[in-house]
Amino acid sequence: MDFNRAVIKVGSALVAPTENGCSGKYTLAISQFITKCQQQGKEIILVSSGGVAAGRSLIQHGSPNLSLATKKAMSSVGQMQMMANWQRFFDIPCSQILITQEDLADRRRFISIKHTIRIQLDNGVLPIVNENDTVASASSSVGDNDNLAALVAQVCEADSLFILSDIDGVFTKDPNINDDAVLIPEIEEITDEIYDMAGVSRNHLATGGMKTKIQAAEKAVEHGINTYIVNGTRSEVFASLLQEINPGTRFAADKNIITAKKHWLKHTLKSQGSITIDNGAVKALVNKGASLLPAGIKSVKNRFKAGDSVDLIDHQSKKVIAKGISLFSHNDLKRIMGKHSDEITNVLGEHHQSSVVVHRDDMVLF
Ligand code: GLU
Repeated sequence: MDFNRAVIKVGSALVAPTENGCSGKYTLAISQFITKCQQQGKEIILVSSGGVAAGRSLIQHGSPNLSLATKKAMSSVGQMQMMANWQRFFDIPCSQILITQEDLADRRRFISIKHTIRIQLDNGVLPIVNENDTVASASSSVGDNDNLAALVAQVCEADSLFILSDIDGVFTKDPNINDDAVLIPEIEEITDEIYDMAGVSRNHLATGGMKTKIQAAEKAVEHGINTYIVNGTRSEVFASLLQEINPGTRFAADKNIITAKKHWLKHTLKSQGSITIDNGAVKALVNKGASLLPAGIKSVKNRFKAGDSVDLIDHQSKKVIAKGISLFSHNDLKRIMGKHSDEITNVLGEHHQSSVVVHRDDMVLF
């Protein structure tokens, strides 16, 4: 699939497929897929379920109907097993990010999560997100990582969301009872009929299964994120994805949204100043889709604050090649321009933690 940054959501049935907790049965192939994507320069954020399933055998429980408190206890101990299970398949470090949907609704926490993930991706770390089940409120219940993954995809401005489970995708009818059920490869618009086909009602309160996957797709495509439901138990699915063949159901991103963000950056935000950049930085921005670092800056013009929009000018052609949001004021930039990112803290002090001047997510190239 053609993407630059994706969230991959892995369901419990793939992480802990038996009563015995975590296993490499499916996670090995998923990890190999992630590694191949990273080798191609793609960025991956993993949203992994499996805490409850992995911790099931470690907490005493009598009945098959587990209470919420028991599930939370299982999830918290299973989380350790689950993280260890992922880490053993990667040479790069994995990070554990536990969040709730309430965290993502809070502006300050949203930004804090966004920055944590950004910095980790820039440092070659694989962020692994799960719901913080211990503190998640009863009303949001344990068990909706599909919707959480759609929110995570928005926080980290992913262009794609892959929901991996043990089903092939959305079918025209329930494939378990209808021999003539056909897999739907492409869904342009998520209507009530789509929910009906998946055997779930849009308004019914039930969670899990296909319903939360379609809900997640609905949230993601509205934000310009292509969403795929694919079968993560079949290793040939990953071979297809690497060959850019859709092996499941694809929900096409709303293209107007992508244009709206670019449009907003390009036309609505007025530039307060400009930054002239050297050949190396021009090449990195244009050819590699990189962020602008202080080392590539030759000069800074006009007064602007951190968070203001600025023009990025090629020092050779004197043309504006991009526009973006500067994370530093003009004064601070004058002090760090031409310097290596490591020197920022020395020059500006501890509170400046970003090594990037204009992040590529906040930049539009002309
Ligand atoms: N957070 C839960 C767990 O780790 C799972 C949520 C879900 O499967 O959607 O077990």
